[in-house]
This record gives sequence, C-alpha cells and structure tokens, in this order.
Amino acid sequence: MLKIYNTADKKLEEFKPLGEIVKIYTCGPTVYDFQHIGNYAAYIYWDLLVRTLKADGYKVRRVLNFTDVGHLVSDADEGEDKFEKTSRREGKSVDEIAKFYGDDFMRNFRALQLVEPDVVARATDYIEDDKRAVDTMTAGGFTYETADGVYYDTSKFPGYAEFAKLDLDGLKAGARVGFSDEKRNVSDFAVWKFIQPGEKHAMRWDYLGRPGYPGWHLECSVIIDKELGSPIDIHTGGIDHIPIHHTNEIAQTYAMTGRELSKYWMHCDFITIEGEKISKSLGNVYSLSDLAERGFSPMDFKMWVLAGHYQGTRNFTFDSLEAAKQRRLNWRNRIALCYQREIANNNEAMMKIVDAVNNNLGSPEAFAIIDTSELMMEDWEKVDELFGLNLIADTPDVSEDVKRMIFERQVARDNKDFARSDEIRDELKRRGVTVEDTPSGPIWQYLI
Ligand code: AMP
Ligand code: ZN
Repeated sequence: MLKIYNTADKKLEEFKPLGEIVKIYTCGPTVYDFQHIGNYAAYIYWDLLVRTLKADGYKVRRVLNFTDVGHLVSDADEGEDKFEKTSRREGKSVDEIAKFYGDDFMRNFRALQLVEPDVVARATDYIEDDKRAVDTMTAGGFTYETADGVYYDTSKFPGYAEFAKLDLDGLKAGARVGFSDEKRNVSDFAVWKFIQPGEKHAMRWDYLGRPGYPGWHLECSVIIDKELGSPIDIHTGGIDHIPIHHTNEIAQTYAMTGRELSKYWMHCDFITIEGEKISKSLGNVYSLSDLAERGFSPMDFKMWVLAGHYQGTRNFTFDSLEAAKQRRLNWRNRIALCYQREIANNNEAMMKIVDAVNNNLGSPEAFAIIDTSELMMEDWEKVDELFGLNLIADTPDVSEDVKRMIFERQVARDNKDFARSDEIRDELKRRGVTVEDTPSGPIWQYLI
C-alpha cells in the first residue's frame, strides 16, 4: 500500500487512484541551458515514484513538459525571456537553443535510466490550445487586459491563497514601492504577454490582434488538460513551485474547467552543494558531465540521490558521492558473488524493500535494508527494476579467459609458485578484477 505526503493537505495519505490508469504530470525543464545536478535529483525522485507505482501493479501515464517559450528570468512575469538572452549569448536561434538543450536533457535522462514519460510535451506545440484556454478564462470573467498582456484576476478564484497558504496581505505590503503597473492584485499573473512595438522577441504568435506569447504558467494547465485530462492523480515538482507556479496552475485549471487540477501533489526539496546554494556566481552549477570528468557515472549520482529522501534538504559533497560510488560497487560485487556461490532465498528482505519505498518513497530505508540483507540474483533483478540502477548490466560474469587465469593462479598457489600467482594477480588487476582467497576457495570481485 502506497503512502505519499500530499503537499496540498500537508499530510501523509494513502494513495487511492482516480481511475484505471494513474495520471502523473511533472513540471519539466526550461530548455535554455544545461540542467544541473539539482534539477536531475528531482527527476530521479519522480522516477522512483513511477517505478514504485509500477511495482505495485498500477498502470501509469506520465507527461513531462519542456518549457521552450516564454519563461522570463523571474517567475513573476518580469525580466527578460531566458531564451532570448541565451540566443543572444550563443548566437543561435531560439529554436536551436531549445533543441540543443532539450536533446541534452533527454540524453542525460536516459543515462540516468529514468523511465521515459509517455508524452514529452513541448510548450510551443500547444500555442493554439493556449489561446483557446485564455478565451475560455476570459469568457468566464477570470481575466483582464492591460497594455502588456492578459492577466488572471486572482481575486476571482476564492481558493487562490489556499494551496501555498499564501499571505496575500503580506505580499501586498511587501510589494515594491512604486508598484504601479496595471495589475489589479499583487498576485495576478500574465496568461498571455503582448510584445511591445520595438521589443525583440523571436518567438511570437498573433492573438487578440497583436503579436505575443503565452505566460509561463499556462502551458502546464493546458498540457495537462489535453494530454491527461484534469483532475490528474499526482502532480510533482520542486518546492520552489508551490507559491507561484503551481498556485497559478491550479487557478488556471479552475478557470478553464471548473475542476481541481490534481488530487495529490508531491514536492521535493532542493540540494545544496558543499553547503551552498547552487548558483552561477559560486561556480558550483555542476552538470552530469562535470561529475563524469571527476570519474563519477550517472549511476553513482543516482545512488547518491536515492540514499536521501526527496523531502529532505540534501547537501552534495564529492566525499558523499564517492561513498555512493563505493556502495554501488559493493552491491555489484554482491551480484558478482551470485555467479560464484549459491545464495539462499530471502523473500522477506525484498518485501521490506518494497514496503520502504511504498512509505512515501523511503529509499534511504530501502537502501539500508539492501546493505544488510542477503539477496539472490532474482532479488537484485527486482532491485534494479525498482531503482533503475543498472547493477546487473554493469556486472557481467567474468570472461572464460579470466576464469582460466583465476584457476591458474590457484594452481600456482597450491604449488607454492608465488611469483607466478602474483604475476597472474597483477594481470587480473589490470583487467579490473581482484581475487580474494577464502576458506571455500577464491572469490573474484570488480575493482571499478
Ligand atoms: P527549471 O529548469 O529551472 O524549471 O528546473 C527544473 C526542476 O528542477 C524544477 O522542478 C526545480 O524545482 C528543480 N530544481 C531546481 N534547482 C534545484 C535544486 N538545487 N535542487 C533540487 N531541485 C532543483
Ligand atoms: Zn508546471
């Protein structure tokens, strides 16, 4: 039985699906730059959610979006468009930027063995749907037009502040002095932005008689409605999305359909790096390639992520990543042992592991059980399926050649020909294998 912490109600709840197929939506990357390891941590947690549901026998339909338009530097409809900025910096078109970084993201997604979403929805493929959604919200009296766009009037949605427990009066008081645009309420947000005469904005679509582009929050409500149909079962994202982005998604879906957006909401906390927040100015915006350069594979990083809980603040250090790498090597060598020795069946351990992840994605507890339980090959297969760690694929049985060398080394030792046995041991090391002598004979292990 799956239990998850529902951010909407702020409590741990038993998961009860709405229908035959569990509908999941994950707010995806803004594809204007390389994603950093903090971003990937989020997708690793949601991958565990999907895998846990599958292990429980549910059918899942999952949608992930790519924001390839209209995401301003600030979440609150201000600043420059991230794509325009990158396009200028790199001397490439906005389409090229979105394609390049989108492809890079999917490559890493696969390298991390994350289950592919059923739909990867690019925001720019939904512009006509966006316009229709704005029409519907306007017909329902939820919007108003200003000189720079169509805004959602948040006072028209009575539950606006509920989801994030927003303090709207406080927000108002804290709003910048000189807050003098045409917004009626401080929390109102653009569902469509107009491009001003003379403003450079490559991505533009005609709507309401002028060029413009959708507000950032709109795509998620629109994609969910089209690809999944609201309400969905589970909506996931980072905690940064609670006060603005997800609050606005909920408001839009209400104005578009009169329905709730999602029954369950799951949010992961942020990771820091060596105690600092991830930021360009600190030079700690590590990508997976940066980790690879230091000798860590995507699977080592995944081990590091899942060793912690999605709701905890995680502090990344290279020492802890090294520990995760060693733990994975240890697990792989226990798989290697399965090729060499009979391991007794231990149904109980596997049941405990599945129970741990069913308890609000308790991967740290599950990992602790794996560390301390005897597991046979069939169990490791299940571990791989549940966490997508590629353990077995990365741990093939050694070749016949190596097996012969291990045998020859044993013969040399029996004959007290230690020079020869050392020579063979060194050659095995060069091939990444070490041999340990135990009372029941030699056992080989992987060194890397
Ligand atoms: P973005 O591409 O900026 O929209 O971010 C993609 C996802 O990564 C969002 O769900 C963010 O909440 C998440 N995210 C961003 N920074 C971090 C971080 N330091 N730790 C964990 N998740 C993050
Ligand atoms: Zn979203």
